[in-house]
Amino acid sequence: MADDPFENMLAQMDRAEEYADVDHGVFERLKHPERTLKVTLPVELESGEVEVFEGYRCQFDSARGPFKGGVRFHPSVSQREVEALAGWMTWKTALVDLPYGGAKGGVICEPKELTDRDLERLTRRYTEGIRRMIGPEVDVPAPDMNTNPQTMAWMMDTYSMYEGYSVPQVVTGKPLEIGGTPGRVEATGRGVSLVTERLFEYLDRELTDATVAIQGFGNVGSNAARLLDESGANVVATSDVSGAAYDPDGLDVAALGAHVDAGGLIEEYVAGDLRGSAGEGDSRWDDPDAITNAELLTLDVDVLIPAAVEGVITADNVDDLRASAIVEAANGPTTVAADKALTERDIQVVPDILANAGGVIVSYLEWVQNAQEFSWPLETVNAELERRIGTAFDETIEQYDTEGLPDLRTAAYTLALERTAKAHEYRGLFP
Ligand code: GLU
Repeated sequence: MADDPFENMLAQMDRAEEYADVDHGVFERLKHPERTLKVTLPVELESGEVEVFEGYRCQFDSARGPFKGGVRFHPSVSQREVEALAGWMTWKTALVDLPYGGAKGGVICEPKELTDRDLERLTRRYTEGIRRMIGPEVDVPAPDMNTNPQTMAWMMDTYSMYEGYSVPQVVTGKPLEIGGTPGRVEATGRGVSLVTERLFEYLDRELTDATVAIQGFGNVGSNAARLLDESGANVVATSDVSGAAYDPDGLDVAALGAHVDAGGLIEEYVAGDLRGSAGEGDSRWDDPDAITNAELLTLDVDVLIPAAVEGVITADNVDDLRASAIVEAANGPTTVAADKALTERDIQVVPDILANAGGVIVSYLEWVQNAQEFSWPLETVNAELERRIGTAFDETIEQYDTEGLPDLRTAAYTLALERTAKAHEYRGLFP
């Protein structure tokens, strides 16, 4: 990771401060998380060994409503990272105007080295550790990196066991059978695809056949790839931790998706070892080339979509970037130093707090359905997602165009900071 993500988030706020209509005292308040809980999690693994894990939950700001944000399981989790991600959730929920604040949780672990049983025990122990600070009206976790509907089911069950009755709305991103909503799994990828379409409309460019490189083929990257492919864009490269696949004529996104869903790595797909029947013998698709993740970032494409970890576009590689636009599906992929260089080069960046907000928007729709004890069909959820992310996109563009701001991130931040600051001003200081 290039920079400290928390410092990066503060630097993004500082960049926006000169344009934002926010009282300086309130602005200073917004730089500090409300609280962060650190929990020690001893877990007896399936191997019989006891391993002691460390986890966090940061509640960054609740002026606009209950805290909201995912939980990630990853070796690079740290208190600073969780606090940065909780800050980004605060600006994201404000920008897309959800009645929420921002939070984030994380456990330092390598999920690939844990069995399903180990993951269940770790999740339950983590939930027990943070259960006094979460709740349907207080703080509502959701999936993030390496967590999924099953993880949310274990969290919901653990919380409910202590309460003595089922509390589906304590988490979002649940399986459908226990109160999940249709459309949540692909929501972040769908939002990325919708925002990319909007960006092309704004730039007066055709998305059909536009070349797209996507770093990361997890839940967000793979769904964005599939939906952009369906919209007529040409996905030419994607990657996972093992490496990247590149074909200037376009990748067989469906075959790649089937391969990865079956547990395969991109490296194996490129080598042809495990390529599924959809790709084999189909003359439309050439064999992709193996390139590195670093090479993927500098491909000469119309759109680059970082959809993995933070801090990948930095001062070290920004001059080598050749994409004409960037859509940030990951949280915090661009450092402030790189941002300034991209602005100078007139490369449009749709910031993370807008581009990847589809996930939390549909989380909100799930939470609302749980509160109403009523469920909506997929079409209703997708239409509401499109309406909400489209409105946030239009508001960001309007702010950018009318206020003469340097870039879209500054436009998005001024809106988010002003909304959050207004909530603080109306509520005033306690006591
Ligand atoms: N983890 C996702 C994010 O970073 C979704 C959070 C949520 O749904 O609460 O936006």
